[in-house]
Amino acid sequence: MFAEEDIVLISAIEHYSYCPRQFALMHVEQTFEDNSLTLSGNRVHENVDRAHVLRHEGVRVEYALPLWSDRLGLSGRADAVELHGDGTVWPVESKRGHRRPKKHDDLQLCAQALCLEEMLDVTVPRGSIYYHSSRRWREVLLSEPLRNETLASIDAIRGAMRSGVVPPPVNDVRCPKCSLIEVCQPELISSARVSTVNPANLEGDKGGGDA
Ligand code: SF4
Repeated sequence: MFAEEDIVLISAIEHYSYCPRQFALMHVEQTFEDNSLTLSGNRVHENVDRAHVLRHEGVRVEYALPLWSDRLGLSGRADAVELHGDGTVWPVESKRGHRRPKKHDDLQLCAQALCLEEMLDVTVPRGSIYYHSSRRWREVLLSEPLRNETLASIDAIRGAMRSGVVPPPVNDVRCPKCSLIEVCQPELISSARVSTVNPANLEGDKGGGDA
C-alpha cells in the first residue's frame, strides 16, 4: 500500500512523458492554465466525463470509470471501458487532434489497463485511442516493453513528487503547444541558464575578479 502523497495520478503519466517540467508545474506546484488546445481537449471529453453506461451489440460500455491500483499506487479514470460478452476488457481513451502515434498517449492507456487488470483480475492485451479531429481509432498493443516503460514512468513520477524539484525547461518544439508556456517562460529561463555557463561570461567574471 502507498501513502496518499505517493499515489500517482494516471493523467500525470501523460504530462511527465510530454515534459517533466510540465508535470512538476502541474502536479508539484499545482499550476494549471488553459490554451486553445486544452479547451478543445475539454470539449472532446464532455461526453466521456459523465459516468454512465451504454450497451451496444452485446458490449457494455462504462464511461468515466474510476480506476486504481493498490499494487502500483495509481489512481485515475478511464474515458470508456468496453466489457465484452466473451470477457474481453478494452479501455478506450479519447483525444483531440488527428490520429498519430504518441508515446505519452500509449503510456496513459497502458496505466489504465494495468489498473483494470488488478481491479477485475483479467488480462488486458490491447486498448484503443479515438482521435476526434480525424474520427479515427488507433489500436494499441499493450506489449511487455510498453508495460515496462509505464512502470518506469510511475517510479520516476513518484521520485519527482517526493523531490519537489521543478526541472529546467526543455525549450523545444513541445513548448508552443504547451498551456503552461506563459508560466514556464522556457526561452527566458533557458537563455538565463546558458548565460550563467557561457565560457565568455566565465572568462569575464574571472577577469573582473583578477582585477
Ligand atoms: S513550456 Fe515547454 S518546458 Fe515549459 S512546461 Fe511546457 S513543454 Fe515544458
